[in-house]
Amino acid sequence: MATQLIEARRGKITEEMKQVALIEEIDVEKIVRRVARGLVIIPRNVRRKEMKIIGIGAGLKTKVNVNIGTSTTYVNLDMEIEKAKIAIKYGTDTIMDLSTGGDLNTIRRKLIEVSPVPFGTVPIYQAFIEATKKKGAGIYMDEDDIFNTIELHMKDGVDFMTIHAGITKDMAERITKNERVTGIVSRGGAILTAWMLHNEKENPLYENYDYLLEMVREYDAVISLGDALRPGSIHDAHDYLQIAEMLNVAKLVEKSWEKGVQVMVEGPGHMPLNQIAANIKLEKTLCKGAPYYVLGPLVTDTAAGYDHIAAAIGAAIAAAEGVDLICYLTPAEHLSLPNIEDVKEGLIAAKIAAHAGDIVKLGEKAMKKDLEISKARAALDWNKILEMAYDTKRAKEMYHRFSTAKGPCTMCGELCVYLLLSKFKEEK
Ligand code: SF4
Repeated sequence: MATQLIEARRGKITEEMKQVALIEEIDVEKIVRRVARGLVIIPRNVRRKEMKIIGIGAGLKTKVNVNIGTSTTYVNLDMEIEKAKIAIKYGTDTIMDLSTGGDLNTIRRKLIEVSPVPFGTVPIYQAFIEATKKKGAGIYMDEDDIFNTIELHMKDGVDFMTIHAGITKDMAERITKNERVTGIVSRGGAILTAWMLHNEKENPLYENYDYLLEMVREYDAVISLGDALRPGSIHDAHDYLQIAEMLNVAKLVEKSWEKGVQVMVEGPGHMPLNQIAANIKLEKTLCKGAPYYVLGPLVTDTAAGYDHIAAAIGAAIAAAEGVDLICYLTPAEHLSLPNIEDVKEGLIAAKIAAHAGDIVKLGEKAMKKDLEISKARAALDWNKILEMAYDTKRAKEMYHRFSTAKGPCTMCGELCVYLLLSKFKEEK
């Protein structure tokens, strides 16, 4: 199967590359060169029909991902479908289904149906859950259970998958020494660690990575190399384990490229604000510019109920420093499964962060919208101001909260600076 990466190396311009060039307002030859070098990925499973094409990577707008999905304690497919729909309405670039409860195949297929954007999953969850049901415990899952589940997801059209291939048995053993405050916070990482420790075997995703690549290449799915050992607290940021895994991931990136498979790298998590730039530099250097996909990062552990804000602060810096895809966090992070409103709030916070980062990363190209809104503000052009808001309905409600009169808002009323200035200009 000729993947986007293989085609680009041959110098072939695919329809997908043309679309990315058009959306990003970049010369298509540049897109081809970046795809050929692995610096840009185009997630599109060959089985997907109608869908929105996006590029993720160097020189492109920072993209935002929304995670949805059931949990083992709360399953409501209708709510998850509504979450997908609201995420699409408010402009998410990608959606991931992290479901762990209910009929996982049905849930995934329904969610793909309503998600016309690149769709991602974490197949190890399903392999573990089904082994628990069929064999009595997840740790009894075997390699076939894992690889068959991965293939099943790709047959359903999944465009990118988190694969925790970077964690190895020696890293899993070190975790038992309790050097960390929050241990392993990645679900996939915890599953594989428990499996390796119980079975006294190497990580099957690491050991059989070449086999995985052959399988993935058939669908041109993107491997998102998961960070099983991402820090779950700022105290644990950049410890031995996090870096050891990243070094391993760097080797796997090169292996993927050798086989013509598109790949991106996942990152933290929690880290102090002043470590974000170094983290991104490290990933971009070690992984030779492979697209970087971060969760947050959260810059403090103290923001329960407001973790979307803690994450957006980190995400803005990360985007400015070159991160390519941001995974949103919702206000419910660390507290509960998010509801529909949480998804909207988290997504808008992440989009603002991505845009703030793009102003630094892409300069004037990204600032066009800011300039347009600022001009509308100075002209008190409320139609435009409200229409261009991330959430027009909410902005309108606020504008009319204390008065329905047109003109300046109720913040300064008659002392609106734009009004005062316009009067001054008229008098002059
Ligand atoms: S009233 Fe004040 S806050 Fe409102 S638009 Fe005018 S200057 Fe801005």
